[in-house]
Amino acid sequence: MIQYSLHCSKGHRYDAWFKSAAAFDDQQARGIVTCAVCGDGAIEKAPMAPSVARTDGEKVSLSSAHPDAVKFREMVRAYRQKVTSEADYVGDKFAEEARKIHFEEAEARGIYGEATRDEVAGLLDDGVEFLPLPDIADDN
Ligand SMILES: [Zn+2]
Repeated sequence: MIQYSLHCSKGHRYDAWFKSAAAFDDQQARGIVTCAVCGDGAIEKAPMAPSVARTDGEKVSLSSAHPDAVKFREMVRAYRQKVTSEADYVGDKFAEEARKIHFEEAEARGIYGEATRDEVAGLLDDGVEFLPLPDIADDN
């Protein structure tokens, strides 16, 4: 990988990564290197030495949404709806109730509610089984 400082004809400067120097030349020749700020296609390498990725082991943060993300969100939403329609809502008594059920001091049933981080840690210590309830907004 190679990093170039680029600038467009309007003077915007930004850094971009390319697979190789040849890949940059090829993309530039095909006019698909465009300014990150204004979309201008007249891109020049800034007059400075490119910095090549320092070591192969160095990590950069990347993210790319999976094409199935929408499907996954639907599944999570369906799971949440199932839980919230079939289980008892116990509010901030979740840790207390979950522990009672675990130790058979209360009727076995599905519950959901809220707990603090400390309470969650305590439940894990006691071997109580539970899952985080995903919080997904109904955005459609
Ligand atoms: Zn520009």
